[in-house]
Amino acid sequence: MTKLSGSCLCGQVKIRVPNRFLYMGNCHCSECRKFSGSDYASVGGIDSSDFEFIEGEALVSYFAKSQETDLAFCSVCGSSLFSRKNTGKKHNIRLGILEGTPEQKPAFHIHTQSKAGWTNICDDLPQFAEGPPVP
Ligand SMILES: [Zn+2]
Ligand SMILES: [Zn+2]
Repeated sequence: MTKLSGSCLCGQVKIRVPNRFLYMGNCHCSECRKFSGSDYASVGGIDSSDFEFIEGEALVSYFAKSQETDLAFCSVCGSSLFSRKNTGKKHNIRLGILEGTPEQKPAFHIHTQSKAGWTNICDDLPQFAEGPPVP
């Protein structure tokens, strides 16, 4: 299986993930909006066991958003990197940190009931008012 690499804005954190995601979608929840500073977050999920740091692991800070979810960011440049699901053992990678283009594309929108008021969803992908349709 091919791999994709990713990095933060300052380049000191480097990661590697499989180029095959369990799911890929756009999250419009208010927490992703705050954490990313963007209208919504495009994320791809992988098993935590498939996630690798190449460099800079010690520079990553974690914000415990809830008991289940830690949000990871670079402590130097502040780039939002991924969320880590502690019980579910999944990493949701922020697609914007990837260097290459994944073979998949986002396939759904979630939490559309809390989407930014200025955002218009202009594609035909399935929309879910609340959480994800897959575990
Ligand atoms: Zn950085
Ligand atoms: Zn979200």
